[in-house]
Amino acid sequence: MHYCKCALYVSSAVILLDSKAQQTELEWISSPPSGWEEISGLDENYTPIRTYQVCQVMEPNQNNWLRTNWIEKGDAQRIFVELKFTLRDCNSLPGVVGSCKETFNLYYQETDVEVGRNIRESQYVKIDTIAADESFTQGDLGERKMKLNTEVRIIGPLSRRGFYLAFQDVGACIALVSVKVYHKKCWSIIENLATFPDTVTGSEFSSLVEVEGTCVNDAEEEADNSPKMHCSAEGEWLVPIGKCICKAGFHQKGDACEPCGRGFYKSSSQDLQCSRCPAHSYNDREGSWRCDCEDGYYRALSDPPSVACTRPPSAPQNLLYNINHTTVSLEWTPPADTGGRNDVTYRIICRRCTWEPEECFSCGSNVGYLPQQSGLMDTYVTIADLLAHANYTFEVEAVNGVSDLSRTQRLFAAVSITTSQAAPSQVSEVMRERVQQHSVQLSWQEPEQPNGVITEYEIKYYEKDQKDRIYSTVKSKSTSATVNNLKPSTAYIFQIRAFTAAGYGTFGPRVEVTTKEESTGSGEQNSICETAILTFPISQFLHVEPRCIALHSPIIHCGYSKADQEGDEELYFQFKFPGTKTYIDPETYEDPNRAVHQFAKELDASCIKIERVIGAGEFGEVCSGRLKLPGKRDVSVAIKTLKVGYTEKQRRDFLCEASIMGQFDHPNVVHLEGVVTRGKPVMIVIEYMENGSLDAFLRKHDGQFTVIQLVGMLRGIAAGMRYLSDMGYVHRDLAARNILVNSNLVCKVSDFGLSRVIDDDPEAVYTTTGGKIPVRWTAMEAIQYRKFTSASDVWSYGIVMWEVMSYGERPYWDMSNQDVIKAIEEGYRLPAPMDCPPGLHQLMLDCWQKDRADRPKFDQIVGILDKMIRNPNTLKTPMGTCTRPISPLLDQNTPDFTSFRLVSEWLEAIKMERYVDNFTAAGYSSLESVARMTIEDVMSLGISLVGHQKKIMSSIQTMRAQMLHLHGTGIQV
Ligand code: AMP
Repeated sequence: MHYCKCALYVSSAVILLDSKAQQTELEWISSPPSGWEEISGLDENYTPIRTYQVCQVMEPNQNNWLRTNWIEKGDAQRIFVELKFTLRDCNSLPGVVGSCKETFNLYYQETDVEVGRNIRESQYVKIDTIAADESFTQGDLGERKMKLNTEVRIIGPLSRRGFYLAFQDVGACIALVSVKVYHKKCWSIIENLATFPDTVTGSEFSSLVEVEGTCVNDAEEEADNSPKMHCSAEGEWLVPIGKCICKAGFHQKGDACEPCGRGFYKSSSQDLQCSRCPAHSYNDREGSWRCDCEDGYYRALSDPPSVACTRPPSAPQNLLYNINHTTVSLEWTPPADTGGRNDVTYRIICRRCTWEPEECFSCGSNVGYLPQQSGLMDTYVTIADLLAHANYTFEVEAVNGVSDLSRTQRLFAAVSITTSQAAPSQVSEVMRERVQQHSVQLSWQEPEQPNGVITEYEIKYYEKDQKDRIYSTVKSKSTSATVNNLKPSTAYIFQIRAFTAAGYGTFGPRVEVTTKEESTGSGEQNSICETAILTFPISQFLHVEPRCIALHSPIIHCGYSKADQEGDEELYFQFKFPGTKTYIDPETYEDPNRAVHQFAKELDASCIKIERVIGAGEFGEVCSGRLKLPGKRDVSVAIKTLKVGYTEKQRRDFLCEASIMGQFDHPNVVHLEGVVTRGKPVMIVIEYMENGSLDAFLRKHDGQFTVIQLVGMLRGIAAGMRYLSDMGYVHRDLAARNILVNSNLVCKVSDFGLSRVIDDDPEAVYTTTGGKIPVRWTAMEAIQYRKFTSASDVWSYGIVMWEVMSYGERPYWDMSNQDVIKAIEEGYRLPAPMDCPPGLHQLMLDCWQKDRADRPKFDQIVGILDKMIRNPNTLKTPMGTCTRPISPLLDQNTPDFTSFRLVSEWLEAIKMERYVDNFTAAGYSSLESVARMTIEDVMSLGISLVGHQKKIMSSIQTMRAQMLHLHGTGIQV
């Protein structure tokens, strides 16, 4: 109930009954008929209304019932009843004795259909006894002052189709001016392009109804992010998660998706806007996801719709050639028009033409291209292995990503070339001179037509049975050669050709030679390293990079590894606060018993008196009792006990909390008195915090504190956390349930432990990063990768602020942990609780900054809260933002009472100076004595007006909070 109405999504009530709206008789049932009477009247605006009145104050034992007509409730479960009435002050009625009452009772009866007109009291369920805030008396001049009271009550969950309301009068003087019955609904809304239907609020006061959204026309759900919202009990839409986005071809306009106009497109739902068609494309339809290419322009398969349409390039320019015997090199410059693309490459088409008749054939695979035939990035190529004295044409074509799509004529540059003079004719006569296990010696005759001076022979050979025919070559200047490094008993094929200035002749016929069988003791010596020159098809180059094998240096763990307690600060952990104590992780002690005795005092069990059980801890019962140390006053203590039958690990973990707590000494951190480890049960003795844990305490006192008092509590928690973070201690589980409150409303941080102790927190759940985490209180980086630092504690502190300002409401209400994580990731943050001053909500938002470096430090938080307490005007809640009635304890213009010295100054400031004498006569001479006053004390001064009593009490409570802050001590209430 404490979140603010200043939400984005305004609620509206569905009226089921409004007595004021009815001009004719209401005709409710009155029993007995002499009791409630229907009377026409005028409301405060002099509008005619129907009222019911009863005023049987003179007669004792009144029991007058009034029942409404049947109210059909539809699908609502929680019904609001608003009553407006006036009630006569008994004191103002002359002559009435004890029979006069100043209250009446409100009842209801659930039924599925209308029932008869008899009222059977036993069938009614009591809702409340209604009293007036303002009763009316005769005015000073004798006129009647009408004071209208408004009371709202909530009933539910209701399950039948309808109900009756009934009013029981037991002897008061009442006029029921209006009865309004309504329920709340979250009205249909479009958010993030999803429609959420009218939704009836949940039955429980803190329940959120999760509603799935439906995408508006032409929109689709974002992947893994379906739209959801939550309808709160107040009829407000809260926490939008996920969204819809306009489909391809559509863009968002307000809450709808509209088609892209002509000449525009949107290719994916992920794009936000429609874009104009790129160059050389068009469309003449609405709602297009892409544009079509103009004639002669194309889009490659890999081209996204956002790029311009393009065309094939023009022909390469300035083609030059150079012939070297049977090798030709070509060179050219890029085309004048690349077609609008930057992926231009070149390909070569080679044709050999006969002289007579002139016919051209593709060169086929006998020709070699360097670096390659197509896909050339550079503007040159070498073509080898051409025939001598032959006629060739070479076409050089520029191609790009759309060349193969185009049906237009190819554009290329071409040259015709005739290779040099004739090469030598074939070497056909080959002799086997010597055949060994590993070598073959061959000799041959010069070719019949050398066509020039033969400068070299090339011998090509390969294993006959080898499939791949990978061959090797050996060169020789004479007409014989020995080929070494052969395998024994293997058939080889040899071919020989001659070389002159005109190039190579063709290879001669194949000659098959089988090497000799291997025999042990053979004198033939062959070094494996003496290899032949290996040749491969010209385009096949093998590229081997030296491979580096990176060896990662092993991670060395030395001694214990400290948990990432300090996060970024870990490096200067030892040096951070010279002269200030730093926290020492008890885990660093090999012997945990030593740690306990280093930091905690061993107490004699006979000094402790256990009185009663006050709670259940993880390890055993928590009791309250007294501790009386020799020579000291006895003090109230809480005693945590370790249950019998514990394991050694449980004992260690239990005492661990004492080892940590014993290191701290601060008024806002729970103080450890000592431990009992030498007797049984093992006990931890802590200062007694009378009001128990903060969350339960706030829930119990819902709406009863002034904003200053709440801020005073928050200031205390921040001061405790500042101390802990200065010591280098990261709490990891800061939450209102882990803050304890004493009788002076002083809040102290408690629940210490190592990270694993969080496991005991019922709020902690397992997350994907391992370990248990209280998700609602924990910063994103700590959930995601366990980065716990003082900055993540600041996040949790922000949640504690929210818990405090909403009187113990559950953060994120009943959303699931998964939804909380998702909402936070999407930037959602808790809204301001009801009546929460904007400055405080801003501080919460600062604590929930995504980047932890942007969050305030605890020191800054304490400073900000101090400033607010010194200037209470900054804690004003803007009027009209919230519908919750302002706490009667909160004075909107709270002055700083601690600046006054005299009781009269204070009374003047709150415009109650007329009571100065009453205070003086009763002996209240100092503000300290006033601050201790209770409502009974104020009444005993003779201040009889309820409004004045309340005003004075409210101011006294504010004064107490201010003193609490100023002196660090509370005033016992
Ligand atoms: P814990 O095991 O610390 O969570 O304690 C369990 C319950 O015992 C708490 O929720 C408190 O209600 C109560 N408790 C623990 N410590 C104290 C204390 N120092 N003074 C009063 N009550 C305490």
